[in-house]
Formats: sequence, structure tokens, C-alpha cells
Amino acid sequence: MTTESAAPARVAGGPDLPQERRLVTEIPGPRSRAMHERRLAAVAAGVGSTLPVYVEAAGGGVVVDVDGNSFIDLASGIAVTSVGNSAPEVVSRVTEQVAAFTHTCFMVAPYEGYVEVCEKLAQLTPGDHAKKTALFNSGAEAVENAVKVARSYTGRDAVVVFDHAYHGRTNLTMAMTAKNMPYKDGFGPFAGEVYRAPISYPFREPVEITGEQAAARAIDVVEKQVGAANLACVVIEPVLGEGGFVVPAPGFLSTVAAWCRANGVVFVADEIQSGMCRTGAWFASEHDDVVPDLVTVAKGVAGGLPLAAVVGRAEIMDSVHGGGLGGTYGGNPVACAAALGAIATMEQLDLNAAARRIEATMRDRLGTLAEKFPAIGEVRGRGAMLAIELVEPGTTTPDAALAGRLSAGCHQRGVLTLTCGTYGNVLRFLPSLVMPEHLLHEALDVIEEVALTLV
Ligand SMILES: *Cc1c(COP(=O)(O)O)cnc(C)c1O
Repeated sequence: MTTESAAPARVAGGPDLPQERRLVTEIPGPRSRAMHERRLAAVAAGVGSTLPVYVEAAGGGVVVDVDGNSFIDLASGIAVTSVGNSAPEVVSRVTEQVAAFTHTCFMVAPYEGYVEVCEKLAQLTPGDHAKKTALFNSGAEAVENAVKVARSYTGRDAVVVFDHAYHGRTNLTMAMTAKNMPYKDGFGPFAGEVYRAPISYPFREPVEITGEQAAARAIDVVEKQVGAANLACVVIEPVLGEGGFVVPAPGFLSTVAAWCRANGVVFVADEIQSGMCRTGAWFASEHDDVVPDLVTVAKGVAGGLPLAAVVGRAEIMDSVHGGGLGGTYGGNPVACAAALGAIATMEQLDLNAAARRIEATMRDRLGTLAEKFPAIGEVRGRGAMLAIELVEPGTTTPDAALAGRLSAGCHQRGVLTLTCGTYGNVLRFLPSLVMPEHLLHEALDVIEEVALTLV
């Protein structure tokens, strides 16, 4: 059926969108401001937006707003649209699936797409042991279910997480998340049996210590304050996300993982932000040669549709009684079609190599900038998950105000950036992995231009 509609054609997103930075109004423009007025009257105040320009289309490396401004996108919807917005393989598979059926509930009547996503994730996650997978809707839901599985398997209660961790906003995952504002304040009481251990944060260690020493410090806290025999699982982000793109010192993750193995504790890698090619490998655990027992997957997996997974050792995953895992929408067929399209894109375009190329370009340019802009205390991260930590020059004293000004300056010049970090002083960069090289350079020009106005 073809329809000739009188309504104005929507701008199509995807990679055919002009790959350019273009500002045609003040930021935000008049149409965005009008929509924002409506939003203020209708949307709960607790839901924030980094930059209130209302989106009309996005693709490749840009986001276009309703006023016709085109931003270079260094956010990717928080590391989600790694294959680019409206990636062709995602659009075609989703379109086909939407027309065939939109939902049956896998727990009522199953379908192939769900099984195929599980097969794919078993193949892509670290380790060649037998694996099983369950699908969910959001990252927090995946983390909750990883904990459920670990408790069921071990018969133990306690969960260990780390300083600066971010695991989500549900009750259990709020307990697991470190930072009070804005994630936890006033929302307690929180789930019990969650304990926090010190992470390896090389930039902030009072004296330089190895990853193995930092792991020993964490293990000591766990043994003394929790007791290995009470511990179901250790949950850790191999590269910290919201906590500031901290990369633990080499040897930290592998030492913690080895201790878990020796003590019958399930080692859970929360790869929700770091997984699916983001760091130049399918999963960031690979950089430390760590094979987690369970891996949580979400953000980058489905090209922007809501899908999450827990992938793990078959004997651990299968310890749960029948019917113990699930949810109405978990592994929705449209989201599964999107994931298969996104994964096919990652394989066809070798987006791990693309992430490594982005890293090479950005590290080089940010390193040069750090020499001219002494407030950059550290350039860090992996692959296309990079950040600069801003401090008072020559110290480690966080400068959140400067990070805010730098980010806002980028927004005004057409580059969409995000901040993060426990101290709010980290500017993070999460370009799509199909970001054209010329746009990446232009974004870096803008960051440099803004930074040098703030020296
Ligand atoms: C975003 C994130 C989550 C939570 O995912 P949601 O889909 O927002 O619930 C959990 N862990 C990590 C590491 C994340 O980055």
C-alpha cells in the first residue's frame, strides 16, 4: 500500500544525512524553546536533558534539531548508537519485524530472533565455555537479574561493588551505584547486602600502586567486612562509565577475577557501557584477558532500541528454576531484530577497528591540547570511550565548574558533549563508531577552541 500524504515529509535520519556541523539559529533555537515550554508543563521535572534542543533526525555522526541546527554528536545517546542512528541494517530489519509481528511475549509464544541474539552474544562474549543468555529491557534490569542468578547459583546473599560504580536507578541498582546526587538522594531505603570496595583509580591514588596491589586492598576489605563465604558476586565495570571513564590499573581486574574463582564467587562484568565494540574490542574485559562468569550487556547492543542481556556460564545461568527469569517485554522481537542488525553492522564494518582508529585520533589531539591547557589532569579511556579529567592545574583538585563551562561552550558551537565522574569534572567523548573522520577532527577543533577561551 502506498500513501501520498499531504503532511510535510519528515527529514530521514541515518548515514545519508549531511555529515556537517551547521548552526542556523541561537542554541536552543525558537522551535526547540517552544517545545521546551510544552515539556515543562507536561514532563516530570526530575527527568533532565543535557542540551534541550529537540531532535528531528540523526545519523552517522550528527544530530539535527527542529530548528535545522546540525550538531556533531559526541554522546551517541550515552554510548547507545554505536552503529550510528537509524543504521540501514537496523532500519530494514526493524521495519520487516514491525510489519510481521510486534510482540507475543517470549514467555508466552517464542520466536527465532530472541534465540539468534542469544546465540550471537554467546559467540561474542569472552571465553569459549558453554554459555546461556536471558534478555531484558534495560541495563538496570540486566544487572538486577545477574545478581538474582548469582544468588540462586551460590545460595549466598552478599554483593560487592566498587567506589565510583554506576549500575542503574532501580532499587537494587541504586544501592549498587556509588554516587548520591542525583541518583540516590531521597530515594532510600535501599536494598540490603550490598557492600562497596575500593577501586583502582590510577589518577587519584595518593601513591602509585600496581593493579595487583589495588586488588589486594579491595580483597582485604571484602574478606574482613563481608567474608567470601557470604558473597554471591562481585560486580564491576571494566572501564567505569558514569564514574568517570576510569580504567583500573593493569592486573586489577584479573586479580579480582582470580580471587572470585578461588572463592566460589560469581564475577560479573557490567559491560553495559563498555561492551559491543565501544572500547575497540567486543568487550572491555578482553583488554585485561579476563573471562567473566556473567556479562551484562545493554546500551550499544541494539542500535537504540531497548534491549539488555545477561550472558554467562551455562551452569550458572541454568541454576535458576524454570520461570524464575523473564518479563513481559524482555527480548521484544523488534528490539531483537534491531540487535541483529546492529551486530551485523559491527561485523561488516569492523567497528572494533573503527573504535581503535577513533582512539588514535582523539588521544593524539587531546594529548596535544593537554600540553596547552593545564587543567586537563588526565586523558584516559579505551577505544571510543575517552575522557579528560579537569582539575586545578598541577593538582588533583576537581574542577567541575570548568567541565561544565567547557561542555556548555561546545554545545553553543554545535558539538554535543557529556560530562561524568563522581566529582562532575570529567568531559567524556562517545562518538558513534561510524563518525566520519573529518567531523571528529572538527569536533576536536571546537573543543580546543573552547578550552583556549577558558585558560
Ligand atoms: C547505563 C548503565 C547502566 C544502566 O542501564 P539503564 O539501561 O540505564 O538501566 C548500568 N550499568 C552501566 C555500566 C551503565 O553504563
